[in-house]
Amino acid sequence: MTVITKKIKLSTKGDTDIIDITWQVAAVLSKTDLSNGIVTVFVKGSTGGLTTVEYEPGLVQDIKAFFEKIAPKSGLYEHNVRWHDGNGYAHVRASFLGPSISVPFIKNQMELGTWQQIIFIDFDNRPRSRELIVQIMGE
Ligand code: ZN
Repeated sequence: MTVITKKIKLSTKGDTDIIDITWQVAAVLSKTDLSNGIVTVFVKGSTGGLTTVEYEPGLVQDIKAFFEKIAPKSGLYEHNVRWHDGNGYAHVRASFLGPSISVPFIKNQMELGTWQQIIFIDFDNRPRSRELIVQIMGE
């Protein structure tokens, strides 16, 4: 088994910015000679998260609306009381979603559905430079 670690750099707008990173992950995988295994993408930072979705403008809006419902930006957060950085909602949303995703691959192709894209969501309340860790384990 081989382990390969790469990074994807992103500039985000923050404020629940939803970014399709499928092609970037596929590009990292395609540069390896691994046939079968699993690719994990992880965000270093506690205000970002990863999942999959059918990436189209309607669902991008629906996901933003969903997070606004479960952790409203204008809510009262103890984190903001303690740290005064105003991004308590971003931390709660990120913890709920989780900081990583793993996708199996076969014959160097990720096993994603046709309408299933990998997305990174930046919940922070300001634009950020992000470094996603892409770790590929396979043979
Ligand atoms: Zn904070």
